[in-house]
Amino acid sequence: MLRDIEALVTCESPSTDLGAVAASAQVVARVGAAHLGAEPELLDIDGRSHLRWRFGTGARRVLVLGHHDTVWPLGSLRTHPFRVDDGVLRGPGCFDMKAGVVMAFAAIAALADPSGITLLITGDEEIGSPTSRALIEDEARGCSAALVLEASAEGGALKVERKGVSLYDIEVDGRAAHAGLEPERGVNATIEVAHQALALAALADDDAGTTVTPTVMSAGTSTNTVPARARLSVDVRTRRRAEQDRVDAAVRSLRPVVDGARIEVHGGPNRPPLERSAAAELFARAALIAHDLGHPPLHGVAVGGASDGNFTAGVGTPTLDGLGAVGGGAHADDEHVLLAALAPRTELLRALLADLLRSGATNAAAAAGTDRP
Ligand SMILES: [Zn+2]
Repeated sequence: MLRDIEALVTCESPSTDLGAVAASAQVVARVGAAHLGAEPELLDIDGRSHLRWRFGTGARRVLVLGHHDTVWPLGSLRTHPFRVDDGVLRGPGCFDMKAGVVMAFAAIAALADPSGITLLITGDEEIGSPTSRALIEDEARGCSAALVLEASAEGGALKVERKGVSLYDIEVDGRAAHAGLEPERGVNATIEVAHQALALAALADDDAGTTVTPTVMSAGTSTNTVPARARLSVDVRTRRRAEQDRVDAAVRSLRPVVDGARIEVHGGPNRPPLERSAAAELFARAALIAHDLGHPPLHGVAVGGASDGNFTAGVGTPTLDGLGAVGGGAHADDEHVLLAALAPRTELLRALLADLLRSGATNAAAAAGTDRP
């Protein structure tokens, strides 16, 4: 597994560089084929490279989901070389989530029969999955579970809840005028956008876990001109779909405060929340299996960051996330993977997959009216 993680990490794959991601897809295909004994389908969507393995010809039951792109620009290996010392593995994208990709290969390869599994490794997760979203949702719709190989949370905890994300740009139109000669003829876009920033922030709800954060703001052209234009970006995170909808409706009904100003709202919900209810049953199974394997108790935590698990949960498929590497420092200088956890977490994934495939068969038999003891 170490050799394979090295092969993946040393092929840099920033999401924004299509050529780099395509080269990485070739390495992922080669490493995966060696584990799985089968070549993937290479799916090119608008120049972005995704890989899919489907096992068996019957019903799809479990989606195993990962990504091979990273946030690290080309050349990061020079400042953050691949290395292993003292039980710690380092290198760009090792934790998020190239180690997880290799764990998926090893876990599936160790199954007696992987029939019913779809393994999807996408190439644009870190930029919000613009070309893989439909692919992920289509695969998830046909499955009774989605297991996401994103890195685990602090201390190896699984991710049982992820906030949904909405992104907005508010454009304000006013009217320019000389700030000294005839300011009264102007409509001040800076004042208008300031009102809107405060109105937006007031949509947050601490108790519901809803944050509404005005982020990038710009306005005006020169120090002695009443600003004609302003722009404001807003980041919204919610635990529940109903909250995402509430904030969306409120943002769309913003009205100008300054006489003569106009507002235009762009954007909207990007990723739906992965609500705790979508992960509860799978987490309980995983915790039981971890216990049977003699692992320390498994924990599940809520996180603010989104992943492709938000999409699988968004189409109603039970989803468990954070099943990948244990370590820390995602997107940061100290990104690392703890070697000691690689084998046990791969074993947990294998056992969880075996359990899901087995119970899928049981459900199918029950649906067909077959008597089983
Ligand atoms: Zn990731």
